[in-house]
Amino acid sequence: MLPRSAAAAEPTRRVAPRANPASSEAGFPALPDLGHGPRHPFVLPALPYAEGALAPAISARTVYFHYRRHHAGYVAALNRLLAARPPGAEPLVTIIRNSAGDPARAGLFNNAAQVWNHSFYWRNLTPGGGGRPGGIIAAAIDRSFGGYPAFRERLIAAAISQFGSGWVWLCAEGDGTGLTIRRTANAETPIQVPGVTPLLTIDVWEHAYYLDTQNRRADHVTQLVDRLLNWSFANRILETLRRPANPTPNPPGTAAAAPPQPERPARQPPATLQRASAPADTRAASLARLARRR
Ligand code: MN
Repeated sequence: MLPRSAAAAEPTRRVAPRANPASSEAGFPALPDLGHGPRHPFVLPALPYAEGALAPAISARTVYFHYRRHHAGYVAALNRLLAARPPGAEPLVTIIRNSAGDPARAGLFNNAAQVWNHSFYWRNLTPGGGGRPGGIIAAAIDRSFGGYPAFRERLIAAAISQFGSGWVWLCAEGDGTGLTIRRTANAETPIQVPGVTPLLTIDVWEHAYYLDTQNRRADHVTQLVDRLLNWSFANRILETLRRPANPTPNPPGTAAAAPPQPERPARQPPATLQRASAPADTRAASLARLARRR
């Protein structure tokens, strides 16, 4: 389960292991395809930029070891653990959700979740990123945190105060109206929690920064927030989450006669990525928690 030490985290509902992998995908919001492949053996997704592209905020040397040793190591360990399974088994997200909280499958969970977390992490950084966001997330941050400066302060504080190894996340709750900052320990990940969609993350394991800033985690986190956060990535996830369910696709060749498309017509998610409406209790509980935190 998500740790008690996660003071910024919400009380969470555990994802019960389920026999039917398809059913464990139901009710979860849209998550980006991170390029692991559909099933094992999973692949290490390519970095979306050169290893030196995040410097000086994160050095090429740190990216090299973090990506080619740590991240690749999790992929290799996960595939070893899955080697005895028949091909065509579960997708990565299902493995994570179904092994979460099961002590007998801690090794599987840890490696699977770390593969996913790291693939998400690399894509949520970009050269020339960071700073105040544009797009729909800007208003969501204003609403949930009272403005970008207050959000930035809280995100950095959460990253600094995570005790030991773990991650800090900006998440969308329910239908994406409310945003929260969550902390998770070790390999734990918000995708374990129904109704929670990660938008951005910061890896606060020491391997993420120790070659560059040694014990000064705050220096690393501040650089990352101000120079590298990929707000376009976060906006795309939030847009997918908020897109109305069950849009009617235009039949081929009828674009000119098609009715106006809602909001952003550019990208239509596959049906499997479309999100059902959040249950009312999730939404209400989320808003109540937000209100309490103020
Ligand atoms: Mn890491």
